[in-house]
Amino acid sequence: MTRFIFITGGVVSSLGKGLASAALGASLQARGYKVRLRKLDPYLNVDPGTMSPTQHGEVYVTDDGAETDLDLGHYERFTGVASRRSDNVTAGRIYRTVLEKERRGDYLGGTVQVIPHVTDQIKTFILSDLTDEDFCLCEIGGTVGDIESLPFLEAIRQLGNELGRERAMVIHVTLLPYIPTAGELKTKPTQHSVKELLSVGIQPDILMCRSDRPIPESERRKIALFCNVNEKNVIAALDAPTIYQVPIDYHAQGLDTQVCRHFGLPCDVSPDLGRWHTIVGRVTKPEGVVTIGIVGKYTSLLDSYKSLSEALVHGGIANNVKVQLEWFDSEIFEREDAARFLESVDGIMVPGGFGERGAEGKIRAARFAREHKIPYFGICFGMQMAVIECARHLANLPDASSSEFGPTSEPLVGLMTEWLRGTELVKRSSTNDMGGTMRLGSYECLLAEGSKVQSIYGHERISERHRHRYEVNVHYREQLEAAGLRFSGLSPDGLLPEIVEYPDHPWFIGVQFHPELKSKPFDPHPLFTSFIQAAVTKSRLV
Ligand code: GLN
Repeated sequence: MTRFIFITGGVVSSLGKGLASAALGASLQARGYKVRLRKLDPYLNVDPGTMSPTQHGEVYVTDDGAETDLDLGHYERFTGVASRRSDNVTAGRIYRTVLEKERRGDYLGGTVQVIPHVTDQIKTFILSDLTDEDFCLCEIGGTVGDIESLPFLEAIRQLGNELGRERAMVIHVTLLPYIPTAGELKTKPTQHSVKELLSVGIQPDILMCRSDRPIPESERRKIALFCNVNEKNVIAALDAPTIYQVPIDYHAQGLDTQVCRHFGLPCDVSPDLGRWHTIVGRVTKPEGVVTIGIVGKYTSLLDSYKSLSEALVHGGIANNVKVQLEWFDSEIFEREDAARFLESVDGIMVPGGFGERGAEGKIRAARFAREHKIPYFGICFGMQMAVIECARHLANLPDASSSEFGPTSEPLVGLMTEWLRGTELVKRSSTNDMGGTMRLGSYECLLAEGSKVQSIYGHERISERHRHRYEVNVHYREQLEAAGLRFSGLSPDGLLPEIVEYPDHPWFIGVQFHPELKSKPFDPHPLFTSFIQAAVTKSRLV
């Protein structure tokens, strides 16, 4: 029997609802329950795939090839449960489904309305694709009071009614701002936000109050009284020194205990949070520090590289060091000497990216890393730029480029028009829609005997997640290998280069996929562990 926990947000956005949901998922899991986490986004895009990373943050890709909200990354990192297409939906997708049904005549001539048609579709989504999960945590994006969230709130109100208290509950995340002149934490915004929820028929069961300092007992009582919740269900959600401390802190405040109490489940035994204590110990008491320079384009919003920066932290956890990140907008290397900025770093990372702007700067960063023997990790676009760099400066192909930047006589990186997924042939053309048409999701890759990546992974067949439209052109393989760049990972049919490496460099690896999406604090991705290890070695040499 699956129980549903709906998580809403009030007062302001960016309260860390995603993290709160992930942390609760982790502590329920630590109590031995099977959990699933979902995100319902009220915006009208069909998925975040076409949204700018500087607006919406990174696009998280699932094994089954869905482009989803970055909160699914938190869910996976905290619970290890691989998310699926059925774990994220937007108002846009809900409406699209409803309209498609309407066009097909599925509504048999009825008037199509928000209630019941849109809300039914939302409920169908929430209840779909579940088997033996004990808990399904559904986070509602946005802030209570937004016009767009109304159908979602109405849907969870109805579901709460239909499932009953023993199978559904609502957690509302709010903010208690501190007013320095009054020397007080203010509860009024929380009261208003709960009123807003009540106006759509939802009484929250638990309030998670975000604040930057402890909440006095008197304020807690006041919130309980005015918001009509049990005092024990007013949970202080304080800022934590590392996000991996959050499951420990929220448990200490009684969050998962109160959830279990609500559902009539045993709540006197404590969950086993041992692994979180180990992780926090390693993050807060590192034995050294390395600096990684990240050369990207979307550096104005660090959420654009959420999984990447977390995976680097995980690499640090594996090596017992703190990983300091230095962000560089790649365009500066087009105006100034890369050495000035990159000389002092212990490793250079060029992450995924799109479009020509800043590409030359990334190529220069790759060249600098190659020539100065600095560990280099290129992901997706970062691999493509490293290949172009090799072609231009080692393989005597000065015009080497990517067809992503316009027509070129040397398409080292070209548009993919067809590829195999398992045994199925997938086809695309340059006129396809932009949304959802890349090579997306998990694909297998075979690692070359005796290559560095094979020793890092410890086996020869791997599966990693993809999100790209262009591909390194396998026809240049011989020329590039003669120049020293080994093609050490290929798709099983041998047509799509997945990994390149320089055998004579301390650590220079480019991968076409996104390994950062699968890294977890308790199971760091081997490539990140190895890259940080190389950075540690480099830092000890100077
Ligand atoms: N723009 C490149 C492509 O579409 C790389 C994409 C990426 O880095 N995710 O192939």
